Amino acid sequence: MAELRNLVIVLGDQLDPDAAAFDGFQAGRDAVWMAEAAEESTHVWSSKPRTVMFLAAMRHFALTLGEAGRRLHYTRLDSRDAGDTLAAQLRHDVRRLQPVRLVITTPGDWRVLQAIKEVAATSELPLEVREDRHFYCSLPEFAAHANARKSLRMEYFYREQRRRHRVLMTDDANGIRPVGGRWNFDAENRKAFGPNGPGAVPRPVTFEPDPVTRDVIALVNSRFAGHPGRLEDFAWPVTRAQALHSLNAFIEERLPLFGRYQDAMWPGNPWLYHSHLSAALNLKLLNPREVVAAAEAAYEDGRAPLASVEGFVRQILGWREYVRGIYWTQMPEYLERNALGAREDLPAWYWTGATDMACLRDALTQTLTHGYANHIQRLMVTGLYALMLGVQPGQVHAWYLAVYVDAVEWVELPNTLGMSQYADDGVMGSKPYVATGKYIQRMSPYCRNCRYDPAQRIGDRACPFTTLYWDFLMRHEAALSKNPRMALQVRNAARLTGAERNAVRRRADAIRRGEAGVERHE
Ligand code: FAD
Ligand code: SF4
Repeated sequence: MAELRNLVIVLGDQLDPDAAAFDGFQAGRDAVWMAEAAEESTHVWSSKPRTVMFLAAMRHFALTLGEAGRRLHYTRLDSRDAGDTLAAQLRHDVRRLQPVRLVITTPGDWRVLQAIKEVAATSELPLEVREDRHFYCSLPEFAAHANARKSLRMEYFYREQRRRHRVLMTDDANGIRPVGGRWNFDAENRKAFGPNGPGAVPRPVTFEPDPVTRDVIALVNSRFAGHPGRLEDFAWPVTRAQALHSLNAFIEERLPLFGRYQDAMWPGNPWLYHSHLSAALNLKLLNPREVVAAAEAAYEDGRAPLASVEGFVRQILGWREYVRGIYWTQMPEYLERNALGAREDLPAWYWTGATDMACLRDALTQTLTHGYANHIQRLMVTGLYALMLGVQPGQVHAWYLAVYVDAVEWVELPNTLGMSQYADDGVMGSKPYVATGKYIQRMSPYCRNCRYDPAQRIGDRACPFTTLYWDFLMRHEAALSKNPRMALQVRNAARLTGAERNAVRRRADAIRRGEAGVERHE
């Protein structure tokens, strides 16, 4: 048999036939390597929807590689000689296939990159790690941006990206300026629904599992039977064609109202005007440039208002690129950050949704059913509660990485540890996102059907968010008082009398001990 030159490693979140790892691929000399390793579903307690998302998309991608005539070595989770870890499988296959070189596009997970480097080193094989050009901003470009600044705020990075990639920019006699004369349309965006609710939101496109996906569902149900989440409603796009279909439907049907209702929540309605494209993007079924271009074109043709389009572009060209840069410039130390010294365990009901808090129950239930929650549910419901309860950031991170179909560490970790838990001491955000239950009351009708009252901070009906908010300010008073953006909140807490402070503390302790009835026993 002819010598195998390059063994091109393709991971579960690298399903792009145009990825850099394929550059120079020669059918007769090179081969692709893919493997389904149990460890990827067990190193955190990966939910069933998340595992199915990855495996179903991988198997469909493998079929397209076959159709394109690319030689492929693919190990299924249920094959007899499957290794438990990616590293074990790769080591085994390298010994068998004897390639001259390993080639990979930068993985989305620092841990996986280390494991592959280790296999290459112990097998005495050269490993070529190629830049992931799926992203607008390369890692060296982000590092240069970071090095030139004292603090790394998303807004400046985003403006730089807009200018550099000429997205929503006009160029006339007055120079290059943002379309509409402003960078930010928050004043028009981020509204709550009125009392009549979201009305007839277009239904998101769903995809009936085909035989390939059904096989994966059966496998995951038997192999990971005890893992969280359900699969009855699995309907995510797992091929590029399906992902494109989802993109087009979003642009036509939901983008016009995306901005206005970006931060709104509504019970029993997980989808609203969001795009639900994060998993397709993160698995590389979609390219961010085509997504941004489709949104920009909708604005130019008058199909969507500028405020919505800018709000959406900001998420992809701004936040998504920025968190990736944060991840790779801060790892591996970032994983260990715990700036607020949080020590509590994550409540067990995060894995079941069994709580009397209406907002959390809904966010957790839809998370476990669909592997999805919108950004505000992640940040201002599940994340906010964990932050104010004082849960160890590592446990919060493991939960977010496990439950969402779009969860890959490069994007999940900075959002969780940095933006949501403030464990990085302000690398990502200038202050912790903390609020009483009144924020949730303003953005949703959850509180109307909840046994708690967001206006009360003590007593049996006190909303746990509200109690924990005051407790958080008191516990971190010294550190937060140095932050000018928190000064007002800290001053308000300082006005509480000694008796009020003690009552808040006692109620917060009771919540932490699980004695305030927040856990629902069916
Ligand atoms: P939309 O609201 O329609 O937004 C459009 C797109 O913008 C998304 O598809 C996504 O690609 C991108 N985007 C929006 N916000 C962010 C952000 N903060 N960071 C990066 N990209 C963003 N996103 C993930 O893709 N994977 C994760 O594991 C993940 N974990 C998160 C954990 C926490 C604690 C928080 C607060 C946020 C997390 N996010 C994560 C970001 C965001 O919540 C999701 O991208 C979004 O909710 C996905 O739904 P959507 O596709 O409908 O997004
Ligand atoms: Fe959530 Fe508090 Fe409102 Fe209940 S009262 S829904 S716990 S914010």
